[in-house]
Amino acid sequence: MKYIGAHVSTSGGVENAPINAEAIGANAFALFTKNQRQWVSKPLTEESIALFKANCEKFGFKPEYILPHDSYLINLGHPEEEGLEKSRKAFLDEMQRCEQLGLKLLNFHPGTTLNKISVEECLDRIAESINLALEQTQGVTAVIENTAGQGSNVGNELWHLKYIIDRIDDKSRVGVCLDTCHMYSAGYDLTGDYEGTFKEFDEIVGFEYLKGMHINDSKKELGSRVDRHDSIGKGTLGFGFFTKLMSDSRFDNMPLILETIDETIWPEEIAWLREQAAQ
Ligand SMILES: [Zn+2]
Ligand SMILES: [Zn+2]
Repeated sequence: MKYIGAHVSTSGGVENAPINAEAIGANAFALFTKNQRQWVSKPLTEESIALFKANCEKFGFKPEYILPHDSYLINLGHPEEEGLEKSRKAFLDEMQRCEQLGLKLLNFHPGTTLNKISVEECLDRIAESINLALEQTQGVTAVIENTAGQGSNVGNELWHLKYIIDRIDDKSRVGVCLDTCHMYSAGYDLTGDYEGTFKEFDEIVGFEYLKGMHINDSKKELGSRVDRHDSIGKGTLGFGFFTKLMSDSRFDNMPLILETIDETIWPEEIAWLREQAAQ
């Protein structure tokens, strides 16, 4: 079965996320558990946590299909000690918030070299950052997202994901999230060679590590390394690609999350994706 949703708003509190997801016809969703543009946020209140759990229960959202996303400020591969410490502290807080909410996944962008260290050095730091967070928490899987490779971001090449996973002590708590826009922008030809691309993913990383997908069309060309999402069917990936993806059973039973640019059409996008899945 396909679990399709979007990255919904938590305005007014995390407890509103399941309500917002239900309203667009989703059976999965993503959220920020704190303000994504601030280093420090107030702890979640007992009330907010209880309401979040109650609303998820009420609308039938299981933790397996909820994919929280961490703050954009965090760089787990930061080249400098101060930035790295700050990021690791903030990431631990994100993991702990997920624990409190009874969530099982935390999705994050791996990091950036800031052009000060090599890609491998950056990946080593990211792996160590993940190990440190996993040691101090329970039950939450660290889900690494592939990137478009914009600027000095790592995570655009599939081997980067594999390199990190290889260095994680508890492999039962690490996974990946593939963003279709990022993959295409990074140079993986999802439209020209659908089968070959996912075969390559399976060989390098492995479908056993795939915990979720970000379902985005792209405004940019193959290999542009520019991260600009578009609405489903309106970008360079096109409707045909998403029809294939939705009828592919390898993407069953995981959160498939829209981060498309026009949230007013999320209900239509979700309904259309569901239709493709049913065929
Ligand atoms: Zn994404
Ligand atoms: Zn993106």
